[in-house]
Amino acid sequence: MLPKASLEETGDGRRGCGPLIPPLSDSLRPLRQQVFERVRAAGLIPRVQVAKDLGVSPASVTTITQELIEVGLIEEVSALREGEQGRGRPAVLLGVKAGAHRVAGMKLSDREHTAVIVDFAGNLIADDVIPRRPGPMTMPEMLAAIETLLDRVCAKAGLGRGELSAVGIGVPGFVDSVAGMVMWSSVLSDRAVPLAAVAQARLGLPVVIDNDANLVTLAELWFGAGRGLADFAVVTIEHGVGMGYVINHRIYRGTQGLGMELGHTKVQLDGALCRCGQRGCLEAYIADYALAREATTALNWTHREGQSISVLLESLYDHAKAGNTAARSIFRRAGRYLAVGLSNVINLFDPALIILSGERMRYDYLYAQETLAEMEALAIQTGRPRPPIEIHAWGDLLWAHGAAALALSFVSEGILVPARELAAQ
Ligand SMILES: [Zn+2]
Repeated sequence: MLPKASLEETGDGRRGCGPLIPPLSDSLRPLRQQVFERVRAAGLIPRVQVAKDLGVSPASVTTITQELIEVGLIEEVSALREGEQGRGRPAVLLGVKAGAHRVAGMKLSDREHTAVIVDFAGNLIADDVIPRRPGPMTMPEMLAAIETLLDRVCAKAGLGRGELSAVGIGVPGFVDSVAGMVMWSSVLSDRAVPLAAVAQARLGLPVVIDNDANLVTLAELWFGAGRGLADFAVVTIEHGVGMGYVINHRIYRGTQGLGMELGHTKVQLDGALCRCGQRGCLEAYIADYALAREATTALNWTHREGQSISVLLESLYDHAKAGNTAARSIFRRAGRYLAVGLSNVINLFDPALIILSGERMRYDYLYAQETLAEMEALAIQTGRPRPPIEIHAWGDLLWAHGAAALALSFVSEGILVPARELAAQ
């Protein structure tokens, strides 16, 4: 029972209790947005099924789908009912109108820039890759790279830039997606850059940006293994180590949009120097630059300084495969640190699945049986099975697909959620 005084403090006005959830929070999206998202996720679906899935009346779904058809976001598709060939009326299904909008998604990285153009239903129209020399770009260099890549992929798609509705851009590093700010990135020499606004002014198109690990997570959520999962983690290992986390079918970004930096969680006090400037980060033990740094010292490769990291890594991998003990122990040690990182993810989040993704996943020493056994030993012991680990060694186009998904969300939410409601969120 509460002390009397605390009740008296409230006077006539009652404070209430329970969480103060705004009227239109993320989990309570406008019904027309829920209907659109249900149709988009299903591919093709009858109206009555939409009503069932959302637990609302068929009449309200009919009203909303009529609106969505009128504004050109979805369309009716006739399909023969199963087993009724030629007889009876064909069923009317709803689907996203693929030609309603087109968006571009791109990933800027150390080794290459990649881009895709997809239609409103998520179908790939064109893609392109531009290799580059590693190292940070100045802001004008980055803008020029974005513009060149966009024009090239537009030309492949046979589209003018003005025919796109939005562009999604992914960069490695610390990115505040909501504010459109790149706080720090290994591919940009400046810090705290309002990349979304600057690129938008340059391209004359709406631009949304995100951390590249969040984009690979979005790609899994929209197109891959994460479509049917409420909670899962994607850990990316390549030039850096990143993580994206989906909670209740949505990317979790943290209060300032800078959360989930698994690569910069500390695994060693006063440990190895990380690219972020701090010491002992997980990334400083398992990212490609860390492996190349180890190789240079342990295998006495000082004469190979100046060679690209990819060449050094390939060579290190070949040595390990050929039985070189020093090369093997470099991968083995990196695998042990990866096990520490993954067990921490399991202990913190209890995910349904962990996906390991990125170029580096070709180096199977990193996730050898020993690594998984070590991860299991470090995870809390409950007698229940650990979450499955899947390895997805997909290329950079996957990341660009995630950037396109970000742009697709931006476009559909801009249409379906009026500014008034967005402001209240
Ligand atoms: Zn760091």
